[in-house]
Amino acid sequence: MTYIPAKDRYDNMAYRKCGNSGLKLSAFSLGLWHNFGYNSNFENSRNLIKTAFDNGITHFDLANNYGPPPGSSEECLGRILKLDFKDYRDEMIISSKAGYTMWDGPYGDWGSKKYLVSSLDQSLKRMDLEYVDIFYHHRPDPETPLEETMAALSLMVQQGKALYVGLSNYRPEEAEKAIKLLKEMGTPCLIHQPKYSMFERWVEDGLLDLLGKEQVGCIPFSPLAQGLLTDKYLNGIPSDSRVATSGQFLNADHITPERVGKIKLLNAMAQERGQKLAQMALAWILRDQRITTVLIGSSKPEQILDSIKALDNINFTKEELNKIDKILR
Ligand code: NDP
Repeated sequence: MTYIPAKDRYDNMAYRKCGNSGLKLSAFSLGLWHNFGYNSNFENSRNLIKTAFDNGITHFDLANNYGPPPGSSEECLGRILKLDFKDYRDEMIISSKAGYTMWDGPYGDWGSKKYLVSSLDQSLKRMDLEYVDIFYHHRPDPETPLEETMAALSLMVQQGKALYVGLSNYRPEEAEKAIKLLKEMGTPCLIHQPKYSMFERWVEDGLLDLLGKEQVGCIPFSPLAQGLLTDKYLNGIPSDSRVATSGQFLNADHITPERVGKIKLLNAMAQERGQKLAQMALAWILRDQRITTVLIGSSKPEQILDSIKALDNINFTKEELNKIDKILR
């Protein structure tokens, strides 16, 4: 059956300006790291994209290596775009990245011009797209001169293969240098993608200040700490959870009694606010206006609906913020 997106899809989502660019992003973005590989149910993957789009999520985040196997998430999205979104490409922001190991040999990893240029060409083929909206360098490369990596990003924009460029996992000092270089090259850095959640707060130590000062957008990934910041692990490990189904990046060792103790206290606090823990954890990130959009993952369409309800209350009193800090200490 032909997919017809919900008519009211833009009515309830918030859109935030990305740094000082002209681009607005939905307050929630959907990531395709998990649940879009060959091991995933295609109809479920398709429903995830449709549910997101029907509810105002315009931004879909990928990388060359998402799967498994690497590349299969991009192929999966390519199939979905062809089946359901042919008429909606201009309503979508599609991102990809390169920086982690993708193929054998010295040209399939890190940050050389050789790797980045070939990788983006491969990504475009897999998704059957002419361009991506945002292309990121996925992680800093200690061996390649930053000038070479940033020039490769700038070239992609000049060639029309990417509209904007971004950085991911760069610490404040290296981000500052990269942002300066990109500015000099006439290709301003649109956005930075760091890991940020209640359990991982390094961005508060300089990065957010830098992005605010430079007016670069921020899109935190793993805002639910891969699902830990929800009520699902309160009483064991459910069989349909990431720990049980994947276990590669989040496993039973992460569910320590100390962590569950903190999750329980946060869960009680969320209930007092009339939210689920997942919603409070996402609202806590979105409370900061330097954050452009929060990058969620979802294994089920219902989780997307559940998570975006965080927007109903993204305000925190000083007392609430202090209480959260105390629980997390
Ligand atoms: P999250 O922290 O949002 O975790 C997502 C997982 O949490 C879901 O797959 C689901 O897992 C569970 N979940 C989500 N919503 C709910 C809910 N409402 N209630 C209960 N459980 C829920 O993000 P991810 O770790 O998936 O990362 C998001 C995206 O960030 C990735 O897809 C990718 O695009 C990007 N990313 C970028 C990286 C980088 O280096 N730049 C690195 C990692 C990710 P379950 O299977 O248990 O249901």
